[in-house]
Amino acid sequence: MSKRAHNFCAGPAALPTAVLQRAQAEMLDWQGRGLSVMEMSHRSDEYVAIAEKAEQDLRDLMAIPSDYKVLFLQGGASQQFAEIPLNLLPEDGTADYIETGIWSKKAIEEARRYGSVNVAASAKGYDYFAIPGQNEWQLSKDAAYLHYASNETIGGLQFDWVPQTGDVPLVVDMSSDILSRPVDVSQFGLIYAGAQKNIGPSGLVVVIVREDLLGRARSVCPTMLNYKIAADNGSMYNTPATYSWYLSGLVFEWLKEQGGVAAMEQRNRAKKDLLYTFIDGSDFYTNPIQTGSRSWMNVPFRLADEKLDKTFLAGADARGLLNLKGHRSVGGMRASIYNATGLDAVEALVAYMAEFEKEHG
Ligand SMILES: *Cc1c(COP(=O)(O)O)cnc(C)c1O
Repeated sequence: MSKRAHNFCAGPAALPTAVLQRAQAEMLDWQGRGLSVMEMSHRSDEYVAIAEKAEQDLRDLMAIPSDYKVLFLQGGASQQFAEIPLNLLPEDGTADYIETGIWSKKAIEEARRYGSVNVAASAKGYDYFAIPGQNEWQLSKDAAYLHYASNETIGGLQFDWVPQTGDVPLVVDMSSDILSRPVDVSQFGLIYAGAQKNIGPSGLVVVIVREDLLGRARSVCPTMLNYKIAADNGSMYNTPATYSWYLSGLVFEWLKEQGGVAAMEQRNRAKKDLLYTFIDGSDFYTNPIQTGSRSWMNVPFRLADEKLDKTFLAGADARGLLNLKGHRSVGGMRASIYNATGLDAVEALVAYMAEFEKEHG
């Protein structure tokens, strides 16, 4: 078997080896049909079965209630930044947004092109080291929805609670923490997630939307961005990202075999505990995020002397610990530890960090 590195990439991120092996085995000849999934008509019985199974497995994993549609769309999470207001924000309405970092800020900037946006709270007052509690939020009276990002992939901030907004639908960008632990879908109006962090390959964004929110799109909303049209056509108004959808389905099957999201929560807790405990116990490494707002999925950290960053990264690379460089906007390091990155990877990282500290600290 070829060698697999420990990949800490923020996205596109590591995929389970077993899933890639399965895809490899099925590459040329899918289940004796003599063709690859990539070469199938999206309208064929075979492909429709693949697509439906993927949806059902995701429904099982997240216990998605039957009055929610699951859409497999393109354009990434970033396209949702426009798609959400085009579908859910009336021209004379207002939407509330919580700003906790780069991704939620992008969502705000895009929504402003389509209507009135109230930034009800910002983590700026905490230098983006903590998420403001709901008692600090300035919500508007009749918001069309409230949008937030449950996990800020770049800053490493994560909500460990769900906002309470009464009848105002909650819209959440779960791109980097969907399926990492159980959530109660019924608390949300709409959940969306770009696939390439914790679901599958890029090219796909999953949208889980409550049915009563369909059919509200503005008349200028492009057909391709209209949730109702996507839902009425089983996400096949046009050709979907067939291979990404199939591969995501293999990941859902793998997740079920692993014990589902409850098992993932246990594993992810052990992974992040190991890494944060090590960082906090060291005088050489730091993570500035307040304990209750720390991300389980993306752990940014700094070395005591940033002149050592290059040496650290080169040494990591030589040991097969890949993609630890922080986002270009913040510098330092970042370890992304999604579902497919195991405890063994975090153990290898911590061992290297300890060794590096001994040598250079
Ligand atoms: C990666 C990411 C995005 C952007 O995803 P694309 O699919 O590249 O558009 C948006 N929000 C969050 C939280 C992300 O992690």
